[in-house]
Amino acid sequence: MMLGEFNCDYIQFFHDPDSDLIGDSEQAFLKYLGQTSAIFITGEDHTRTRAVCTLLHGNEPSGFSAVFHYLKSKKKPVVNTLFIIASVQAASLDPLFSHRMQPQQRDLNRCFSAPYDDHQGEVANAILKLIHLVNPECLIDIHNTSGSGPAFAVAIKEDNNHVALTSLFTNDLIVTDLRLGALMELSEQDLCTVTIECGGAKDAASLMIAQEGLHRYLSTQQVLAMDDEQYPVNVYHNPIRLETIANAPVAYGHQAQDNAVITLPLRADKFNYGMLTKDELIGYLRPNGLKLLTAKDPLGVERLEEYFVLKGDELYARHPLKIFMATTNSFIAKTDCLFYFIGADS
Ligand SMILES: [Zn+2]
Repeated sequence: MMLGEFNCDYIQFFHDPDSDLIGDSEQAFLKYLGQTSAIFITGEDHTRTRAVCTLLHGNEPSGFSAVFHYLKSKKKPVVNTLFIIASVQAASLDPLFSHRMQPQQRDLNRCFSAPYDDHQGEVANAILKLIHLVNPECLIDIHNTSGSGPAFAVAIKEDNNHVALTSLFTNDLIVTDLRLGALMELSEQDLCTVTIECGGAKDAASLMIAQEGLHRYLSTQQVLAMDDEQYPVNVYHNPIRLETIANAPVAYGHQAQDNAVITLPLRADKFNYGMLTKDELIGYLRPNGLKLLTAKDPLGVERLEEYFVLKGDELYARHPLKIFMATTNSFIAKTDCLFYFIGADS
């Protein structure tokens, strides 16, 4: 491997750094790195490498904390390990870990497909080149959800390897046909890649899930599928996004807010737990508000009225739904989506 010669303007590279020097806290570690960084640790087996990416979003620190604690533990991974710590500059903006990306820059986890012609594209392309150079057997990319919720994994392929990797962290795997330029789309190039959503950045369980999963990932001889192994993973296909049309505003409160198309409960992230029933109020809509919402499946077919019904000004599900990534952040709700859902029977 020619890693000693890896030299790139966009990624600072560390080879087996002295863990005494990386700082005594996550804050100090972030300062020590200062920019997008890659850390290569030599494992017991030098012939294989696994990769871990985290902090593609600067406000999602659980994976970063887990990597910090792993490095401080001075454990030797079973195989060589490449850690990529991506949006260090965004995470370093005050207050720490509050910015998904730097102002005026694109979401880095939408930049892993050509063209790579702006700064974020160049960073993404440099990360891809480094990953190809070390040629890992698999890659995990650790995130937090924007609201509170249980952990789950996301992948673009459903095979035993993706299921096996998921099982190190969680029992739920979403398989999506949607292509957004996310790092996990490396699975298309036969690098088994799974995104781990550990739960909300402030959930106590998220750090534990990241730490324990990372420990299993780096201490287990074989993390890809073994022939005789059954993995207890539920697989969900192609969740649908519930969105407002044309990024119309979303509010949170106990009653309908005048300026919003939809007003969700203050703790809308409670929908992430368990199953949403037909009797549970999702939110208040304006008159004719259903016309201001959209829920298209990956084929572009509108499914809104098949899954949702308006009673007065109140929105309900027609059937029990499994909800993922319901957010309490009105900006994300408006510009990305309110949540993802899957019919209980699909
Ligand atoms: Zn993320």
